[in-house]
Amino acid sequence: MITEIQTNFYRISLPMPYRLRHVHTYALVQGADIALFDTGMNMPGAYEKLEEDLKSVGLGTQFIRDIYITHSHTDHCSMAGLLQERTKAKIHISAAANNVYQYFHQAEVLTKAARIFYAKHGMSPREVDAMVEEIDDIRGIIAPFNADDHLEQNEIREFGDWKFEVIFTPGHAAGHVCFFFREEGFLIAGDHVLPYISPSLSPNIFDEVFQPLKNYLDSLQIVENLPVTTIYPGHGNSFTNISERAGEIRTHHELRKQVVLQCLNAQPKTTYAISAEISGAATSRWDDWEKFMALNGTYVYLQELNREGVIKETMEGNVLVYKTI
Ligand SMILES: [Zn+2]
Repeated sequence: MITEIQTNFYRISLPMPYRLRHVHTYALVQGADIALFDTGMNMPGAYEKLEEDLKSVGLGTQFIRDIYITHSHTDHCSMAGLLQERTKAKIHISAAANNVYQYFHQAEVLTKAARIFYAKHGMSPREVDAMVEEIDDIRGIIAPFNADDHLEQNEIREFGDWKFEVIFTPGHAAGHVCFFFREEGFLIAGDHVLPYISPSLSPNIFDEVFQPLKNYLDSLQIVENLPVTTIYPGHGNSFTNISERAGEIRTHHELRKQVVLQCLNAQPKTTYAISAEISGAATSRWDDWEKFMALNGTYVYLQELNREGVIKETMEGNVLVYKTI
């Protein structure tokens, strides 16, 4: 579905195979030229859908000149390679997001790092194998692309008469950026702020010093300080009150963090064991992906509690364990 949000600015909803059924891409138009913000997911029918939607308003994929990427998750950029090949569009992405993307293509490097990381956090070898398989499946759908340049913090980009600022917002993903149109007051937010769900946070397995929650909350403050009137997210409807939404997301994280803390005592536990304990009976119905996501989510709060000095992290044999101080 394509919607003209305002003159020469469109929202296009593309399909996704997950619980979230759609992802948005946004198109700025100048004359016949198009700048696309995120590309949607490279799944059967998605390219045709994009083409059909653009045609319905007298445009077409052949007019895409530039592609701006908020972050390197598959639902936001896995069609970029295909579009680049067919349209010769230029791709703009932050250096950090591009790094994550390149790692994703180095199967051996990624698999090795993932095996070490998840085993260290308490997954069994069988569960680690299953998780690596899931990562391989995701890799299969990503069309490779070459970035034409890197987006810099706070730089102003222009597309015809349009002007927008690049705002670095690491947290949901390393190298995540938002695009802020100061004159119009709107923010293309990627997955930094979503209207209905709290954006997921996960570890950077290549950088264990990275603090996902701390970075995310700092980035939330950054966009809250901007004079934003309307937020255009990667999923869900646009919304207007960024402070209200940011407040809800902060509360959500604070409550989740407390749940993790309450699970800890003098008995040392792994991240994976804590994630299973929190989820209780639901754990028996988990598939491999849910186990992976639960571990990631728990890790984020343990990192933060450890940073705050409230809990203690130690290495016991080959695994990291956590307990109260
Ligand atoms: Zn997304």
